[in-house]
Amino acid sequence: MAEYARDESKKIDISRDFADKKIGKCPFCKTEEPKWLYKEEWKLIGSNDSYFKCPHCESELKLITDDVTGLAYSPVSPSGKKKKAAGKIQNEPYVTIIKIGLSVKTPQNMLWAGEEMPLAQLKAWTETK
Ligand SMILES: [Zn+2]
Repeated sequence: MAEYARDESKKIDISRDFADKKIGKCPFCKTEEPKWLYKEEWKLIGSNDSYFKCPHCESELKLITDDVTGLAYSPVSPSGKKKKAAGKIQNEPYVTIIKIGLSVKTPQNMLWAGEEMPLAQLKAWTETK
C-alpha cells in the first residue's frame, strides 16, 4: 500500500484540495488547517479508495475516490448507482473513520471509530463536540 504524502508543488491536486477545503479542520484534534496527508489505494473493481491522515493526531479517514473527484455524484456512474441503491445522498461524500489517533482516543471520539457518515454530518459533529 502506498505511503501517505502531501504534494504542495502542484497548483491543483484533487486529493489535497478536497482534504483542505472539504474536510478542513481535523474532527479529532481540532487543528484548523492540519495539512492533511493522503494516499490512494487502487482497486481492480469499483472505485479506488482515498485515505486521509491528520499529521498532528494521526487519525485516518477513508472515502471512495469517486466521492473525492465527484464522479459518484452522478447517478449514472457505477459508484453513483451503488450510492443510489444504498439510499445515500447522491452529491454528498461519505467518510469512514478508520483510525482515531492515540492522543485523541477520548470516549466520545471512539464512539465514531469505524463509522461511515456523510461528510456534512462529520463536520457538524466537529463543531458541536
Ligand atoms: Zn488531527
